[in-house]
Amino acid sequence: MMKKILFLLIAAAMACSCQILSQINWDYAHLANAGGKALTAASLTDAQISDLCRQSVAYADAQTPLAEAKYQQRLARLMYGVKEVDGKPLNFKVYKSNEVNACAYGDGSVRVNSALMDLMDDDELIAVIGHELGHVANKDSKKAMQRAYLSSAAREAIYSAGGYGQLAGTVLGDLSEAYVNAQFSQKQESRADDYGFQFAIDNGHDPYSMARSLEKLNSLSSGSSSGALAKMFASHPDSAKRAEKMRKKADDLTGKKTTK
Ligand SMILES: [Zn+2]
Repeated sequence: MMKKILFLLIAAAMACSCQILSQINWDYAHLANAGGKALTAASLTDAQISDLCRQSVAYADAQTPLAEAKYQQRLARLMYGVKEVDGKPLNFKVYKSNEVNACAYGDGSVRVNSALMDLMDDDELIAVIGHELGHVANKDSKKAMQRAYLSSAAREAIYSAGGYGQLAGTVLGDLSEAYVNAQFSQKQESRADDYGFQFAIDNGHDPYSMARSLEKLNSLSSGSSSGALAKMFASHPDSAKRAEKMRKKADDLTGKKTTK
């Protein structure tokens, strides 16, 4: 059971990391009828969504080992001075994981896997994290958690106006599973790419950072490496287009012509 939950959390993070570009396919009618109680996305307040994120992150933190100090230090160095997004104070941790991934939650928690840090140089890493922060800034993460809540067993733990308690581990596991399916739309991905592009530049990095990171992630899918990431990329031809778009954008900015 523990292993399954861990897998689901990793999968949730994968979805978070936005290699998945498929359109959101959401059955609102089904959700509205679930549990015999009409719940709409509007029934959760911002504070409640932030708390769901906080509880999910705490759960993930408890399940996942941290990477060695050198990883934490590198991330802290790169994110030095980056304190908040959309008014939410940020906190960073590196998980020890072979899955290439990073995830920013709607409460400002950012979790980066060691495998991603091994793969990316500083410029590329900044861009990927910037992309994730873009989902927070654009409120995509918030909406994703909102949907995950409404589709999971967590909705049974109805939030009262005056507050609610800590969700049980099994409920959080279910919430994480629902989060797996809360994919971002193509438009959301594109906007997050734009955010990551600018984030890299604002923090003094190469304008080609976003393009390079996407190109590198793409190359994983065409290589012999298997695993969830490669499989996910293989089914998303648009990810190559995203990389091209970011390279063109950098070309326009620098006046160079690196686009093939
Ligand atoms: Zn994304």
